[in-house]
Amino acid sequence: MKLLSILGSTGSIGRNTLKIAEKFPERFKIKALAAKKNLALLVRQIDYFSPELAVVFDEENAVELKKLIPAGTGVEIMHGVAGYNAAATISGVDMVVTAMVGAAGLMPTLAAIDAGKDIALANKETLVMAGEIVIKKALEKDVKILPIDSEHSAIFQCIAGSRMEDLDRIFLTGSGGPFLNRSAEEFAEIKPEDALNHPIWQMGRKISVDSATMMNKGLEVLEAKSLFGVSHDKIEVLIQPQSVIHSMVSFKDGSVMAQLSIPDMKGAIAYAMSYPERLPLYQGLPDFAGIGALTFQKPDLERFPCLALAYEVCETGETLPAVLNAANEIAVEAFLSNRISFVKIPDLISETIDRHNVVTNPTLSDILEADGWARKIAGELI
Ligand code: NDP
Repeated sequence: MKLLSILGSTGSIGRNTLKIAEKFPERFKIKALAAKKNLALLVRQIDYFSPELAVVFDEENAVELKKLIPAGTGVEIMHGVAGYNAAATISGVDMVVTAMVGAAGLMPTLAAIDAGKDIALANKETLVMAGEIVIKKALEKDVKILPIDSEHSAIFQCIAGSRMEDLDRIFLTGSGGPFLNRSAEEFAEIKPEDALNHPIWQMGRKISVDSATMMNKGLEVLEAKSLFGVSHDKIEVLIQPQSVIHSMVSFKDGSVMAQLSIPDMKGAIAYAMSYPERLPLYQGLPDFAGIGALTFQKPDLERFPCLALAYEVCETGETLPAVLNAANEIAVEAFLSNRISFVKIPDLISETIDRHNVVTNPTLSDILEADGWARKIAGELI
């Protein structure tokens, strides 16, 4: 029986994780659930999974949650950073699923690693901001970081059983998002509801916009660099519009391995939860004959400058990835609340990056400071 703590249980990844736990009750038990503010769903999750601890972000929501839970449930309710840290480090938990969105994921993930918990990592922002520090700590603590992001799960599966020194390149694939075939002239007209309408994946709001700008691929390049210890010039983004191939790797001898499946996050989540075993999900195979052809194309960096920005930042590293990430979070939020247009997202990130004085060999506090600084500057620029 594996004991789990799920940070971000009410989100898209959190809900899919719980579907797997529900399907295999003899394999997984939920000890802690953490959300931000979706009390109605959290109450249902507490009712079904009977965790020991439930966490929300604000104190008022914690007070409200206590009123909503039937007496005698026996769940402890906490809130804020202390609550998230408690859920990340709760005794007896084997694995923490980091499924919260944004920079808020970094500190609880580090706390979980410090407490010796294995990590099923969805929160890519953690590795984007502080990849080197997180991986070093995981090695020190002998903690596994198992990727949930479908591309990183695919890469992880493709290199399994091979020697890292034999790896040549990583081909990080992506669907291209909802605007793959839209002309640059039409980009100014894009509305939040268009960007949230991903043709293939059902995801949270922030990652949906990141997919639309292709910043998501950029964040994934940064994530892969840290997770697999590969230089950015060995990571190539390829558009694979059918989203059947979730990434590929090539080896020194010219052999290429790809991981294929239907586009459903439950496969990657389950693999992280049960690694090295594969759970009998039987969620269907791609309809190869129906699909007919798998096609590939290079990303258009002129129409999708966010990806180019991420590659630039990847080259420098240091505090720049944290600045890119924070400016992107502010820009996406501003776009979603109709304060800036879609085409202003990369401009805002680029201007924030240009103003940053890079700190070399950054400590965790340098990274957190760069994150706060970038949020302030991006906010002022808006
Ligand atoms: P969602 O927006 O659907 O869910 C986010 C979750 O985090 C919710 O439970 C939310 O609570 C909680 N949350 C939001 N803000 C905070 C905060 N400041 N502090 C603590 N908790 C917070 O996101 P997704 O599930 O789509 O994505 C989660 C992470 O997984 C992201 O990092 C994303 O990049 C990554 N990912 C997602 C994929 C997907 O298919 N969705 C694929 C690969 C990676 P509440 O609901 O109460 O607001």
